[in-house]
Amino acid sequence: MGDCIFCKIAKGEIPSDFVYKDENVVAFKDLNPQAPVHILVIPREHFESALKVDNDSVWNKLISSAVKIAKELGLEKDGFRMVINTGEQGGQTVMHLHLHLLAGRNLGWPPG
Ligand code: 5GP
Ligand code: ZN
Repeated sequence: MGDCIFCKIAKGEIPSDFVYKDENVVAFKDLNPQAPVHILVIPREHFESALKVDNDSVWNKLISSAVKIAKELGLEKDGFRMVINTGEQGGQTVMHLHLHLLAGRNLGWPPG
């Protein structure tokens, strides 16, 4: 998608702090971190939101990559959270599917 910021990040057109890349997925540090670890994991392919995913392999790759990154960062012991905001009340502000990987503090529950 021409003007999608996360498509541009995935293509390397915007400098980003990448922590993981493969043929399907890239992951980079959130610009405005909400926790000591705050990484965005995205499919290279553009989906406007979770509602537009038409292929379960997208979920497989996205979530398995996020778990792999969490393990690589040593988050197994203290734990972490994976979040996919969807739509207006879900708090989605960037219209390219992304998974937030959050860790490094007690995140609390329920969310505010
Ligand atoms: P959402 O609110 O859509 O679930 O999450 C979007 C996230 O993308 C926010 O946490 C925001 O800080 C992050 N973000 C927005 N634009 C950029 C950007 O250009 N670079 C990076 N690294 N993060 C961004
Ligand atoms: Zn996009």
